[in-house]
Amino acid sequence: MDSNDVIADIKHVLYTKEQIQDRIAELAARIDEDYADRDLLVVGVLKGAVMVMADLARALHSHVTMDWMAVSSYGSGTQSSGVVRILKDLDTDLMGKHVLIVEDIIDSGLTLSWLKANLQSRGPASVEICTLLRKPEAAKVEIDVKYVGMDIPNEFVVGYGLDHAERYRNLDFIGTLAPHVYS
Ligand code: 5GP
Ligand code: MG
Ligand code: MG
Repeated sequence: MDSNDVIADIKHVLYTKEQIQDRIAELAARIDEDYADRDLLVVGVLKGAVMVMADLARALHSHVTMDWMAVSSYGSGTQSSGVVRILKDLDTDLMGKHVLIVEDIIDSGLTLSWLKANLQSRGPASVEICTLLRKPEAAKVEIDVKYVGMDIPNEFVVGYGLDHAERYRNLDFIGTLAPHVYS
């Protein structure tokens, strides 16, 4: 019988469940401090950010409201082009709100740079970014990210919301894929 074991597809674990949760708790403490006197709207970018959003929001002690956006980056293959289409927009009017965009990963930065400008044009009081992972070597645009979980090497990672062909999002850790997955 063919194995349906997800773990067999993982080459290397980059961050364990515990390491991710510890880092999210640290980010949440900083966010609580920074927004102590203001209500916060956290905006999760579907689908990758679902896990970070769920854990970060539960680690926060501040009053928050939550909303979601889905965007798709036009471009060939795995390369982000910077041309972004909104698949699902926010339900919330941003006028006067303090907004925190929550992302799984920043690669080229093109998607987020577009998204930040888009949200900023809607009249919010502030827009900041929180990302669990960032690949500094892959950056194509400079983007001011206030909260970064971990800087990682320029390698394709999966798990904890991040997919390869829609799989592996459900893993509670972050890792790289074994070569047999790609072939
Ligand atoms: P950017 O516009 O920053 O290049 O693209 C960011 C998006 O590309 C992420 O939200 C994610 O969907 C995808 N992406 C970039 N790097 C990785 C990676 O290492 N693993 C996975 N699964 N997705 C990635
Ligand atoms: Mg994402
Ligand atoms: Mg993906």
